Amino acid sequence: MTAQMASFLKLTLVGDGGVGKSCLILQYMYHDFVEEYEPTKADAYRRTITLQGEDVQIDILDTAGQEDYPAVRDGYLKHGDGFLLVFDLTNRETFESIRNHRENVLRVKADDANLPIILIGNKSDLRQNRLISFEEANSLATQWNIPYIETSAKTRENVDRAFSEIFLKIKEIKQIRRQ
Ligand code: GDP
Ligand code: MG
Repeated sequence: MTAQMASFLKLTLVGDGGVGKSCLILQYMYHDFVEEYEPTKADAYRRTITLQGEDVQIDILDTAGQEDYPAVRDGYLKHGDGFLLVFDLTNRETFESIRNHRENVLRVKADDANLPIILIGNKSDLRQNRLISFEEANSLATQWNIPYIETSAKTRENVDRAFSEIFLKIKEIKQIRRQ
């Protein structure tokens, strides 16, 4: 049981409420876009996927971003082997919050320099409402030495790419650590 658990590639999504974390997961898992998903719900999803021709088990934790108790939030963060830091391209406040979310992650994961993290700018389909340019977000990601990907949970643009990239990174790190 323990060995099996260890083989899960564990991903946690973090970001302010309303940025589209639940929609990204539901689109990735079920090819479905849900207009209204329970905003306070934190949930876990598991399945087997094929990465570079190899079957791996994934475990995705959806956080609500409004966990009342720091201990609960930290527990969710501890769970992750890797993280998608998600903000909404049409909402500057959610972009400003990303620093905080990243700091929480780094604190809980003991400043692990090799921690797989990708910055995600979601809702790329809302072109007219965009407030954060690709350049601005990309330069922040570059500063942190992490990739930046723009997604739409509505049109599925880059959704597979974002999840595949983070799971590949998690898999690589786990393999290195096992050696
Ligand atoms: P969460 O709080 O981060 O889990 O956000 P949700 O996944 O619940 O999404 C919040 C709202 O944004 C919902 O009304 C979604 O329908 C909407 N939404 C999420 N992702 C997208 C997207 O990529 N494009 C558009 N247009 N709306 C989105
Ligand atoms: Mg949600």
